[in-house]
Amino acid sequence: SDHQLEYPLNPDEMDWSKLYPHYYDAERKEMTKNVTIADIGCGFGGLLVDLSPAFPEDLILGMEIRVQVTNYVEDRIIALRNNHKDEEKYQNISVLRGNAMKFLPNFFHKSQLSKMFFCFPDPHFKQRKHKARIITNTLLSEYAYVLKEGGVIYTITDVEDLHHWMVKHLEEHPLFERLSNEWEAQDKCVTIMRNSTEEGKKVERKKGAKYIACFKRLPNPI
Ligand code: SAM
Repeated sequence: SDHQLEYPLNPDEMDWSKLYPHYYDAERKEMTKNVTIADIGCGFGGLLVDLSPAFPEDLILGMEIRVQVTNYVEDRIIALRNNHKDEEKYQNISVLRGNAMKFLPNFFHKSQLSKMFFCFPDPHFKQRKHKARIITNTLLSEYAYVLKEGGVIYTITDVEDLHHWMVKHLEEHPLFERLSNEWEAQDKCVTIMRNSTEEGKKVERKKGAKYIACFKRLPNPI
């Protein structure tokens, strides 16, 4: 449970050098880049692996609450880095065990992120479990805090009811605006998100539907 989770008191206390050693300047004792893309509930890490070459200039972080799954992704990334040592690939992705519903502002500064992914989040079907869903009014305000103006929240699910839930809450929130189908059609992350996560591949095999909705972070009202 949460009290076994380690998390920094604030973003400046976080040691990112272990997660992205390639981007640590040992002389100046500081990171040369900050995380800008977060995959919330990253599962087995398929999205991270495909985003890595698509966004070589960004540091990309998967957050996952399950210990074994986090360890699996960690090993997967280390193996990829070792297999591509010469080209120095996959240095820009990493994974962190954490509860994204609780500690995000401990890890990220205000406006630090440009993209957040919510791919096939747990549906929590029963009415009384809905408050456990990862998109709620309160949590959206936290996501808006760590996202920069113009940043994007990506959602995808095979559960139609959950899709409507996420769209409803995001549309009701004053700091988010839905992006159009045309926008989705030209955005490379939408293509990657649709095809690269393990859950997405499972849905594909079962020929299930995939519901997508993307939202832009609006400026704070004056
Ligand atoms: N995004 C991955 C995919 O599409 O393959 C995984 C989808 S899986 C259905 C949902 C994942 O979210 C699980 O791995 C679960 O452990 C993780 N998760 C659930 N609640 C979380 C939380 N509060 N913080 C971080 N991860 C969470």
